[in-house]
Amino acid sequence: MTSEGRAPRVGVLAVQGAVREHVNAIREIDAEPVEVRLPRDLVDLDALILPGGESTTMRKLIDAYGLREPILSLARGGAPLLGTCAGMILLADRLADGEAPYFGLLDLEVRRNGYGRQLDSFETDLDAPGLGGQPLHGVFIRAPVVSDLGPDVEVLARDPDGMPVAVRQGRVMATAFHPELTGDRRMHRLLVSLIGRGAGRSA
Ligand code: GLN
Repeated sequence: MTSEGRAPRVGVLAVQGAVREHVNAIREIDAEPVEVRLPRDLVDLDALILPGGESTTMRKLIDAYGLREPILSLARGGAPLLGTCAGMILLADRLADGEAPYFGLLDLEVRRNGYGRQLDSFETDLDAPGLGGQPLHGVFIRAPVVSDLGPDVEVLARDPDGMPVAVRQGRVMATAFHPELTGDRRMHRLLVSLIGRGAGRSA
């Protein structure tokens, strides 16, 4: 429940990509999902998810629908954000291949498709000290690699090689994997738990 006594309203950017599974995940944790296609869909949202998909296409569509500025002001106003896979790429401050960053809301560098073409998709158990300690099952689909991390970024989970795959900086979180494709709702619950914690980018 929010301070107004209603279910938290969690948006899912729905211009392209893995939308439906996030909508279902939000319902499962008793929050209200809102599919976001137009700026007016962002009104009164408590949190927003940027899903997986193809980040170049997503950038173009976010621009075409006039969503970039309203999403930035939602974030500046204190709404927590979760970017998964392509969503992580959109949130990152730096891209390793020299491509310009898009939202620049997370102090990290990512390399698109960094797990390599031969490993297009894979699943593995993740060490998740920042998510209560129980291992988390990660589904990776042409996933980005986090190639550098700022000092204020907390690592929530790592892959078996020790690479960060779930991170949080204040109320902005991102995963290289797809948490909506398993039954583990820890990332979605953490997103909702950050609602109403005040503005600012640091923890
Ligand atoms: N490889 C995609 C990109 O670079 C991301 C893949 C995903 O979101 N599953 O945008």
